Amino acid sequence: MQNDAQDGAKALARLVAEEEKGRVSREEYAAAVIALVQLAQTSTSGGRAAAQVLLSCYNGYDFQADLTDLNNLDRGNFELAIVVIRGRRDTGCEPHQVIKNGSDIFLELRKDWIHLHVAERGKVPCRTCDGEGKIDGKPCSRCEGSGRAHPTVIR
Ligand SMILES: [Zn+2]
Repeated sequence: MQNDAQDGAKALARLVAEEEKGRVSREEYAAAVIALVQLAQTSTSGGRAAAQVLLSCYNGYDFQADLTDLNNLDRGNFELAIVVIRGRRDTGCEPHQVIKNGSDIFLELRKDWIHLHVAERGKVPCRTCDGEGKIDGKPCSRCEGSGRAHPTVIR
């Protein structure tokens, strides 16, 4: 009976050790968030990918990362993106919570990359105004002047 209990305790200890293996610390997570924020503040394909990872970890309802865009990251930044994703899970903290001035920084990122919001993602150039947003100088009624609209037919 005692051996069964000891075996059970050892098995549990092994499970816990396995679960802890490779766990991202809050410090590692914060360092990766800071590095990706700097990249996301650039108007580059890598910045776009970094922004998607950060914003998806920040608010997954509003922003969803396109995983193929991660191919735009060099190896080092790709690994940072993976640390951010794992850090989000392992710490249970949103990325803005682990860096100084995180709320302000992420609100700015959200504004800079608002065209990646799920409500904007599927839009294409408006067919009514040919993406100009205006017809005869007046805002296009279909796209409300944005020049972009959801397609009427799924392609
Ligand atoms: Zn239009």
